Amino acid sequence: MKCRKCKKPAVLKMPRHNTAFCDVCFQDYLLKQVQKAISDGKMFLKEAPILVAVSGGKDSLALWDILIKLGYETVGLHLNLGIGAYSATSQQMVEKFAQTRNLRLITHGYQESYGLGVVEIAKASARPACSACGTMKRHHFNRIAIEEGFPVVATGHNLDDEAARLLGNLLKWQVPYLEKQSPVLSDDNGKWAKKVKPLYRLPEREMAAYAILNRIDYIVEECPMSNGAKAFTYKETLNRLEEASPGAKHQFYLGFLKQKEKSFPSPPPVTDADACLTCGQPCQSEQCGYCRLIERSTSLIVS
Ligand code: AMP
Ligand code: ZN
Repeated sequence: MKCRKCKKPAVLKMPRHNTAFCDVCFQDYLLKQVQKAISDGKMFLKEAPILVAVSGGKDSLALWDILIKLGYETVGLHLNLGIGAYSATSQQMVEKFAQTRNLRLITHGYQESYGLGVVEIAKASARPACSACGTMKRHHFNRIAIEEGFPVVATGHNLDDEAARLLGNLLKWQVPYLEKQSPVLSDDNGKWAKKVKPLYRLPEREMAAYAILNRIDYIVEECPMSNGAKAFTYKETLNRLEEASPGAKHQFYLGFLKQKEKSFPSPPPVTDADACLTCGQPCQSEQCGYCRLIERSTSLIVS
């Protein structure tokens, strides 16, 4: 099989575009997709450094690599969740990536801050591990970005992640979540860090190919706590649809974004009334999920 663009031997078949690319043309295509996402969503400019949340997995490390290639100034942020060997290996992967490229990396460990890992914090507050983990990550991304002076936090969520989340929200008709689901979450005039997902146009398969072609060393293992998580079932279902009808995932998620723009031209504003009274971060009630979580587990938390 030959590359559709330059006719050299192809390395990757891309059924969703009815094409195949060689290494160079594939990477060129992928970088353009990321740049398009950044420009279309007015995510960030080259003038100010942005914080890239890196887990040690392929998507976020590839995102960091791509942003550097595109000429953006970046600093990495890694949260060590305190999940035994899994977290230790994840941190090692991120540190190795940063050291070999001479990049600044901020790390924050739950074990050091609370004396507990995320699993123990979730247990102590009787919350499912994945949901407690998500709440804590969001809080820390926002807090560290603001403390360190970064207006934007970029995460490595890809098309599969976003399409799976959309399917979940639709199955349960979570209208408020549907309204908010977007690759760009507002900073409310600089009060919060803006959250962006520059990989939302790219499926997991293409991100894995990029990581392999660029010899990015990443943690292959999934989080041991996420076994059986619903997101996997949604992803599997969407993969079956994609196989039967290439491009289905893209149509599903990007079609949703288009429809949403028509139905809700501007995202619902975050106002002062939506700030947590304890920590000041965005929330729907008087106290945010993070503060409730921490309060409930205080009997176990040392500081
Ligand atoms: P996940 O929710 O694990 O699918 O991760 C989605 C994105 O969140 C990743 O691509 C990263 O950008 C970010 N992320 C997840 N876990 C961490 C972590 N421990 N430290 C920093 N960023 C993370
Ligand atoms: Zn709070």
